[in-house]
Amino acid sequence: MAFTLPELPYDFAALEPVIDAKTMEIHHDKHHATYVDNLNKALADYPEWAAKSLEDIVAHIDEVPEAVRTAVRNNGGGHYNHSLFWQMMTPDAKQEGATVERIEKEFGSFDAFRKEFAAAATGRFGSGWAWLVLDGDKLAVVSTSNQDNPLMEGKKPLLGLDVWEHAYYLKYQNKRADYIQEFFKVINWEFVDQLLAEA
Ligand code: MN
Repeated sequence: MAFTLPELPYDFAALEPVIDAKTMEIHHDKHHATYVDNLNKALADYPEWAAKSLEDIVAHIDEVPEAVRTAVRNNGGGHYNHSLFWQMMTPDAKQEGATVERIEKEFGSFDAFRKEFAAAATGRFGSGWAWLVLDGDKLAVVSTSNQDNPLMEGKKPLLGLDVWEHAYYLKYQNKRADYIQEFFKVINWEFVDQLLAEA
């Protein structure tokens, strides 16, 4: 069973004006689709790996056959990260729930968390992601390069922000910091709470 591109849970324009429709269309239909295609190509000769769940592959990336490990890391990571990312956003964002309450406790305030997350997203040099993760039994902010996912380091991703230029350049150009601040308006905390509950 080949990996497939998941449908967006909303239409391309749903997150306007935070994320413009054209960016969503290219990001989902071209970038994400390419990760899926290349993951399928990389695993074409490794049916035992192709049969695993995406999460399982990402969590055990160091055990993937060396000949395709880098391709699987980049494209499997890309497929997994984006599959989560679309669900981590919503046009009906409400900043409330179990994770928000834990954030207030563990970071001291929501604003303290926001600053730490924004610093991780701004400070990631080149392409990558900023994350809120569960590290053991504590919340933490981390960033990863390229399409790496916190699961590759044994941490459970709860919220991720794509800071590759393809994610924001059409609308924000060089102003990555503005994109990061706007992102907080479309976070799907209900979905984040589901991830926290599963952890
Ligand atoms: Mn992306």
